[in-house]
Amino acid sequence: MKSAPFKYAAPATIAEALDILGENDPDEVKLMAGGQSLMPLLNMRLARPELVVDLGHVAGLDFIRETAGGVAIGAMTTKRAVEESELIRGEHPLFWESTVAIGHPPIRNRGTVGGSMAQADPASEYPAAAIALDAELVAVSKAGERVIAAEDFFVTYLTTSLEPGEILTEVRIPRPVVGTGWSFQEVARRHGDFAIVGAVATLRLEGGGVVDPRIVVFGAADRAIRIREAEGLVSGQPPTEENFQAAANRIGEAVEDPLSDVHASEEYRRHLAVVLGGRVLGEAAERASRESVGA
Ligand SMILES: Cc1cc2nc3c(=O)[nH]c(=O)nc-3n(C[C@H](O)[C@H](O)[C@H](O)COP(=O)(O)OP(=O)(O)OC[C@H]3O[C@@H](n4cnc5c(N)ncnc54)[C@H](O)[C@@H]3O)c2cc1C
Repeated sequence: MKSAPFKYAAPATIAEALDILGENDPDEVKLMAGGQSLMPLLNMRLARPELVVDLGHVAGLDFIRETAGGVAIGAMTTKRAVEESELIRGEHPLFWESTVAIGHPPIRNRGTVGGSMAQADPASEYPAAAIALDAELVAVSKAGERVIAAEDFFVTYLTTSLEPGEILTEVRIPRPVVGTGWSFQEVARRHGDFAIVGAVATLRLEGGGVVDPRIVVFGAADRAIRIREAEGLVSGQPPTEENFQAAANRIGEAVEDPLSDVHASEEYRRHLAVVLGGRVLGEAAERASRESVGA
């Protein structure tokens, strides 16, 4: 099937892109990054915008920059560039791991960091990593710049808190505190598929107890969700299998109304959330303990 006809604009600067957005009805405009998710929607006529604004020629949106607090990644940076970045692999290994779990090399060659964040697919790896890492997303509009915490950015299925007229320009990821252990695991039907369910954990170990745990589950609900109830069960406690299992069980309870579709039933998704939740806590603790003995 072919898309419905649309007009096409290829601005060269952010200012030009914002002007175009300002001149058109926001409901009739679609921004395009790599087009990997957008083009199928257009071709299936699930989206019929009057105008597509291609961000591919906009200067200054493709970068990976070390900052005082961590790293800033431009919205039009491809996943391949993230995968090949020694800075990301060395200093932000959880984000790197979430990148290489996305699709296959051709997908990562064209797909962008900003496109995946803005697409807000509940089974996508990046939203979960962004929430676990306390990332911030930067949006610009005619009104100026807005910095949005990742947890506030992903609202529900394919929906973010971006306002009409806003363009996502940058993702900021803080440098992890020394000694942070992390784990990223997912279950997919085949390597490179979207996850059926995935889980992410980060934590530190201090004085024999778990400090600052983060647990995020994706693919199980309408968006990636941080499970604070489970974090509360391990925080300050020794990193034992028993405590992690109790937290994993709490994850299963906290995932209300899991998705049920052709890929997996509600029960199976809940089961995966529990199993993966336990595994990521265990692996994150193992990494944190290696860090703390300097291994
Ligand atoms: C075969 C296949 C397998 C895949 N597997 C996975 C997978 O395992 N995990 C995964 O996460 N993804 C997967 N994807 C999706 C892939 O990661 C895409 O890169 C991602 O969906 C975004 O595509 P894009 O960067 O080309 O953005 P586009 O398709 O161009 O845009 C996606 C959406 O974001 C909006 N948008 C884009 N950029 C901006 C911006 N700067 N500001 C505001 N809005 C913006 C667009 O308007 C559109 O609504 C897969 C895709 C394919 C085709």
